[in-house]
Amino acid sequence: MNSIRRMLVKASESRWLRERAPRLGFVRGAAARFMPGEKPEEALAAARTLADSGISTLLTQLGENIAVRAEAEKVVAHYLDLLERVRDADLPSEVSVKLTQLGLDLDREFCFANLATLIERSRAASPAAEKTLWIDMEQSAYVDATLELHARARKKNRNVGVCVQAYLRRTEKDVESVVSMGAAVRLVKGAYSEPPEIAFPKKEDVDENFFRLSQMLLSPEARRAGVRAVMATHDRKLIARISEWAAAQGIAKSQLEFAMLFGIQRAEQLRLAREGYRSGVLISYGSFWFPWFMRRLAERPANVLFLVRNLFSS
Ligand SMILES: Cc1cc2nc3c(=O)[nH]c(=O)nc-3n(C[C@H](O)[C@H](O)[C@H](O)COP(=O)(O)OP(=O)(O)OC[C@H]3O[C@@H](n4cnc5c(N)ncnc54)[C@H](O)[C@@H]3O)c2cc1C
Repeated sequence: MNSIRRMLVKASESRWLRERAPRLGFVRGAAARFMPGEKPEEALAAARTLADSGISTLLTQLGENIAVRAEAEKVVAHYLDLLERVRDADLPSEVSVKLTQLGLDLDREFCFANLATLIERSRAASPAAEKTLWIDMEQSAYVDATLELHARARKKNRNVGVCVQAYLRRTEKDVESVVSMGAAVRLVKGAYSEPPEIAFPKKEDVDENFFRLSQMLLSPEARRAGVRAVMATHDRKLIARISEWAAAQGIAKSQLEFAMLFGIQRAEQLRLAREGYRSGVLISYGSFWFPWFMRRLAERPANVLFLVRNLFSS
């Protein structure tokens, strides 16, 4: 990870910046490129527009590391209401949550109960097709707890999915385990700053691991077990490599699912949907966007130019 990236990820963890920077107009303006708005109504309207182009959505209210029980309860109430709205509007949208937003730092059992409530409601959110409640993957210190709660939740209800990160050396083993469960898995490269002992420091190694993990998630064994694999990346080279390999394996386009973030690689999102792949977009909303926005800048330091441009145009 180069020094600009490291600095941006560090900024994402700074409480001081998180409390001050979002008040600056040029920072808000630059963040707006990656989110349709702070309100759930704005996220739902964007989900409708994307649905009209054949793109499904994942909705997430920004927030992490909640330290007060009542705050986590508010998050659960918010998502319960959102799931109702998704059902009423008949949108092809699912919800993705961070466990630290549901109280993982406070009490694992409390977090599990919150998660179970949301999974149960997601199941009922669509009479036609069951919806998956997705669990984001956060920093490496949370991986064991996240996989454990996911596995426990899955014993009760199968409509739960988990994210795994290709930059972690351990992920191959974790993928073996989720494949054996026939789970829903979202594969990403990984958005946090992790030490080389546990994460591949070189981008080419992360990309290669992403490809190998995709092959595992799309293997005949995984498909027999009922795995739902979502390759969440904006990397067009990787998308092409995975889709070519899948075609050679006889996997239909309609069985390949890709996902990207709102506002990034829009043309590619549309192309995938048009060509018959399953194409999804994660829409983030809410007022707690600063750490998330810093991670988006870290993924592509050229995005800092947007920030600078907004500074001069505000
Ligand atoms: C649907 C979805 C869910 C995710 N959930 C998680 C999660 O739960 N946990 C987690 O750790 N990470 C998550 N991520 C983030 C992920 O880990 C990566 O940080 C992010 O997707 C960037 O990596 P990339 O695969 O796009 O590849 P990269 O190699 O980083 O990017 C490939 C190309 O995509 C474009 N691009 C990538 N990022 C940006 C950007 N921010 N702005 C503009 N262009 C960009 C650029 O053209 C770049 O060259 C998620 C990503 C997606 C799409």
